[in-house]
Formats: sequence, structure tokens, C-alpha cells
Amino acid sequence: MADEPLLAPFAGSHGGFPRFDLFHADRFPAAFDAAMTKNRAEIAAIVANKQPPSFDNTIVAFERAGRALNQVGTLFGVYVSTLSDKTVQQLEQDLTPKLAAYNDEVIQNAGLFARVKAVYDGRATLRITPEQQRLLDEQYQGFARHGAALDAAGNTRLQAINQRLATLFTTFGQNQLADEESGELVLTSEADLAGLPPSLREAAKQDAEAKGKKGQWRFGNTRSAMEPFLTYSTRRDLREKAFRMFTSRGDNNDAHDNKKTIVEILALRGERAKLLGYPSHAHWIISDNMAKTPDAAMALMMRVWKAAVARAHEEVADMQKLADSEDPHHKAPPIAPWDYRYYAEKVRKARYDLDQDVVKAYLQLDKLREAMFWASGQLYGFTFTQVHDVPTARPELSVYEVTRDGKHLGLWYFDPYARDGKRSGAWMNEYRTQRTDDGITPPIVSNNANFVRGKPGEPVLISWEDAVTMFHEFGHALHGLNSNVHYATLAGTNTKRDFVEFPSQLNEHWLPTKEVLGKYCVHYQTGKPIPDELVAKIDKAKHFNQGFATVEYLAGAIYDLKIHLEPPGKAIDPAEFEKRTMKEIGMPAEIVMRHRPTHFGHIFSDDGYSAGYYAYIWADTLTADAAEAFAQAGYYDKATAKRLYESIMSVGNSIAPDEAFRKFRGRDVDTNALMRDRGFPTT
Ligand SMILES: [Zn+2]
Repeated sequence: MADEPLLAPFAGSHGGFPRFDLFHADRFPAAFDAAMTKNRAEIAAIVANKQPPSFDNTIVAFERAGRALNQVGTLFGVYVSTLSDKTVQQLEQDLTPKLAAYNDEVIQNAGLFARVKAVYDGRATLRITPEQQRLLDEQYQGFARHGAALDAAGNTRLQAINQRLATLFTTFGQNQLADEESGELVLTSEADLAGLPPSLREAAKQDAEAKGKKGQWRFGNTRSAMEPFLTYSTRRDLREKAFRMFTSRGDNNDAHDNKKTIVEILALRGERAKLLGYPSHAHWIISDNMAKTPDAAMALMMRVWKAAVARAHEEVADMQKLADSEDPHHKAPPIAPWDYRYYAEKVRKARYDLDQDVVKAYLQLDKLREAMFWASGQLYGFTFTQVHDVPTARPELSVYEVTRDGKHLGLWYFDPYARDGKRSGAWMNEYRTQRTDDGITPPIVSNNANFVRGKPGEPVLISWEDAVTMFHEFGHALHGLNSNVHYATLAGTNTKRDFVEFPSQLNEHWLPTKEVLGKYCVHYQTGKPIPDELVAKIDKAKHFNQGFATVEYLAGAIYDLKIHLEPPGKAIDPAEFEKRTMKEIGMPAEIVMRHRPTHFGHIFSDDGYSAGYYAYIWADTLTADAAEAFAQAGYYDKATAKRLYESIMSVGNSIAPDEAFRKFRGRDVDTNALMRDRGFPTT
């Protein structure tokens, strides 16, 4: 395995890069084995050290151990999320329980934990920097919170739980993907296309052709295909069909049904929480977050919930009025969930005269990418230059070198288009985390999206919402690229779950700045900048539909928190729980959770956002408050940007998140800023 490219440290020009030209998916099992063997030896050496435990010989040594294993794990993650063919799916099934078992083996290494604990217990007298103090805390908690102090029987059970969970998470994700890839709405006549704008028809035609259905129109069972269809189709029957298909992913009582998977996941999570000494899975997860307790997270959500539901009822009343006025008998059927987006768009047009398709003509994917580059140049001094000598996993990816004052800072990969085997949505990925503890190691990050390719030679036009998402994901990339700490564990986006969305959400605020709009949001045919009247309309429409957006998100976040607060050992029927919870909180009948449980990958395809979906709104309170600082000083104000860089963007998790925020804002967060941002009344 000595020259296995999956294991070799990234080398070559531009600070080194992963060799996607040399990687082979079927080499992952051997590479993982070799990396684990290496890591076992590294850990054995730490434990066997005859010197008493010290920060250097234990904490730093452990921080530096397992780099090959991290790398192969990261690369495998890229294959799973963007290149998931049958081979990779099988590997995922085989490897995830193995990796979970290995993780537990490390956590439960009694000799290793004894040394870490010895250093931790003596922390009061250590002469170390605040960042080192933070590394020590995080490392110790990483062991303690994951059962390092359990007895042998507890150990064995915990390992069994974690391995079984790993398998269930994979099953959950694969079932969801299967329904997204196999589900489709295929239209065969012009009459079926009523209301759809030309660009959407064209994309659907191309999609059908690519699937061997020439002369028809295909809409896949993904958000990027379904939401536009639900927004524009005038065919209520087809909207209902599409909506039911989309919201039933993983819930069809067939081979890909996820309900049983959820029941088992919840039972195991509850049991694990109890084993680790917490009242529930939610308590265990949140005790490590900025919120610290489930109560704090719930209190924030319920405060916003009341205002959001009230607003959603107003929105529905407006839509009903419009629907009735269009009905020949002035009495349209009540707004159903498959009508919401359709009538919302109509109200938007009527009230704000804002046609999404007109806006889209000014939003070219390439120009928006340039806009993000430019804004990051203004804020952080970044320059992005495309490079062509770095191999990529697929030819449609592009790679950019990031520099500041001519000095290399890192690499940014862009993987914009949908393809089979790529998970839906948009996200940021890190190929290599910044660190300086053993020489300068620059970060390598990527942004991934699922845009539909237009006609050859024509620019890809995207919606305003997608443009916001691009700035969001780029914000994560900037968090990774700005990182300037010693230890990778504390670097970039390796922050608390309810803090990590703050830099990304904040970056969304640079899209609607007049500088970006004027220079980069130009018409794809005339090259003219987006007119001021249109910008004014977008701005005026900002609070439009916030009831819907907030309710569909919060319903999911509240469900997530409530179901994970259930006491261990209690049998849960997820479908019944969903119904009951929605009733209890007064969910408007016209809206469903943004992700219904059977395709709620955030919380059931790994532990990542479980009992943590609230993190978005938690982080949004920080975002709204920080954005007000920029709104007051000017979005391109150098001093405010510098403060953001110094207190937030460069520090990763080397400073506690509440402290970092105070450093930027000069005080604790003001939650009223969020209410103002969404156009809700403050109290
Ligand atoms: Zn994000």
C-alpha cells in the first residue's frame, strides 16, 4: 500500500491536491485497512510512552495521529455524496459499520483515555495557550461524551449500537436516494405542460431525452425539479400527483420504505443516551452545542413559531382570496399543500409584480460565481484563479487557486451540475482542513450543487433562491479558506453544529448588495444590469412568504427535537408521532414539514443534524444580528470585515462560539434582530 494514492499526502503544485485521476473506488477497503493499521500503531506508541502524560506527548500526538485515515475517510465521503454508483453503495454498506467499530475501538482504548484524562485533570497548572486549552477540552470531551469511561459490558453494548446505527444510516440514505432516482413525473402532451415557462420545459425535455424518453418531458423526484413544477404548473391534478410523490419519498410501504429504519434508529439512540448518562438523545447532542440545553433551543423555536404560524395564516387568506377571484363561481377549493407554491407565486406577481422568470434572466451561474469571488476579495482580500493542471473526479468540475496578496491560501473546487449518483441539494465539502502545527497545510474545499444544465452554449440561469444558496455554500467555503489556527480539529468549519451555519448564512447577505447586483446580475442576452425597479421589487418581496418558509422549516426542527427528547425505551411510531406533534403545535393544514420523517436525511442518515436541525434558526439569530452590524457600517466596510475575519472567520473552534460572537458584536446576541429580519413583530 506504500504508493496507494488514496493514502499518499496530497502533493504537487498549488499546495498539493487529491489525485482524482489515480483513485479507484475498489481500492477503498484496502486503503482503509492500511490506514487503520497505521493509526493503531500511532496510538500504541502514545500509550506505550514511558514519559508521564503531557500536552505534547499525548494531546498533540493524538491530534497528529490518524491523518491517513482522515484523508481516506474524506475521499470516501466525496465518492458517497457525488459518485455513488452501485460499487460505491455496496462499499458504503460494507465499510460504515467497520469504521464505526474502529471509532469505538479508539474511544474505548483505556490506556489512551487514561493519559488524556491525566493531562485534562492537571489542566489548571499547564502552561499552554488558550487554543491549546481548547484542543485539550475538545479532545477530552470527545472521549468522555462517547463512552470512554464505560465498563466492559457497557463498552460492548455501545459498540454494537454504533455499528448497527451506521448500517441503518446508510440504509436510510440509500432508500431516500432510490426514491429520488426512480420517482419521476413524465409528461406526454403539450396540455400537461400548461403554465410551465420555456426554460423549464426545455430542461424537462432534455432530462427525458437523457433517460431514453425522447419527445416527452421528465421531472425527477428531487427538490430542484419538483419545486419549480409546483410553482408554475396550472394543472392542479398534476401538481397533486407531483406533490404526493415528492413528499412520500421513503414512505411507500415498499422495499425502500424508511419507517422501520427510523423506529430502530430512535430506539438505539435512546438506549445509547441512557448508557452515556443522559436523559435523552437530544440532551446528549445539545450539551456539546452553543445552545447547551434542549430547553434553550426549544424556547427560541417556539418564540418564532407563534409569529410564523400567524403569518402563514395571513398568507393563506391572501391566496384563497386570489383563488376565489379566479374561480367562475367565486368559490375555489381550499388551498391544499400542492397549491401553496403555485398561489404564492401568483400573489407575489400580483402584489409585488415580481416574475421569477424575469429575475432569472439576470442570474447566470457563471456570473454569480464571479460575484462571490469579487465580494470575498473585498472582504477578505481573496483572489480566485482557475487552474487546469489539477485533476477532478468528473470533467465538469473546475478548480480555482485562492491567493491573498499573491500568497497561496488554498484550493476551491466547484461541482455545479446534477448527475446520477450525486446527492440532492447543495453543500460544501472539505478535502483537506487547514492547520499549521506541523508546517503550513493550506485548506482545500469544494462547493457542490445540482443545477440542471441548459442547452449547449447557453448560460445556466438560476432562481433567486438558488443564487442565495450559492452564496450560502460559498460562505462555508470561505469559513474553511479563511481558517488560521494551529490544529485541524479546531479549524474552519469544525465548529459547533448550531454555530457552523452562521458564517454561511451571513454570506448570503452579500448577494443583494448593490455592488453585486449592478456588476454581476446582468441580463444573459442584453448584458444590461438588473434594473433598479426590479431590485426594489425583490427587496420589497423579501418578507413575502416568510410564514411558509419559517413554518415548513420549524415544523421539521420541532419534530426533530421532540422525537429525540422521548425517554429511552419508549416505543415510538414515527408516523403517529408526526401527526400528533403537528396537531399539538398547530401546524397549518396547508403546509407540510420541509423534510417529512421518511426522507429527513439531515437527522436520520447520520447523527450530524439529529436533535440539531434547530441549529439553522439558532445560527440565524447570530446571522441577523451580525448582518445589522454590516447594514449599519456598510456591507463593504473594511473595519467591520476585519473584525469579522479576526473574531469569526479565521478562528474556527479555537474560541468558544459565544465568546467569538461577543468579540465581533461587543455584546451577546439580540434575538429581536431575527424577528426584524423575517418581518415578524418583536416583543
Ligand atoms: Zn449550510
